[in-house]
Amino acid sequence: MKVLSCDVCQKVLESPIPDRTYYHMAHREICESCHDKLEFQIKPTVRSKTPFNYDWYLKLVGESIEKAIQKGKFDVKITY
Ligand SMILES: [Zn+2]
Repeated sequence: MKVLSCDVCQKVLESPIPDRTYYHMAHREICESCHDKLEFQIKPTVRSKTPFNYDWYLKLVGESIEKAIQKGKFDVKITY
C-alpha cells in the first residue's frame, strides 16, 4: 500500500489518489485540505494578474507552499 504524507501539514495519506486526495505541485505533495487553502490564499492574487502568466503562477504556487511548509500549515481560514 502506498502511503504519502503531506509536505505542509504532515498528514498521512493512505492509498493517495493524485488530484483527488493529494496534489503534486511545485515538487511537493500536498493533501486535499492544504490544496484547498492554497487555492483560497492565492486566488485573489491570481485573479488580479492580467495578463495571466503560467510561469508566474507556478512561482507563486511554489513560494506559497514553501512558506506554508515553514509554518507547518497554510495560514488561512476558508470563508466562502
Ligand atoms: Zn496537508
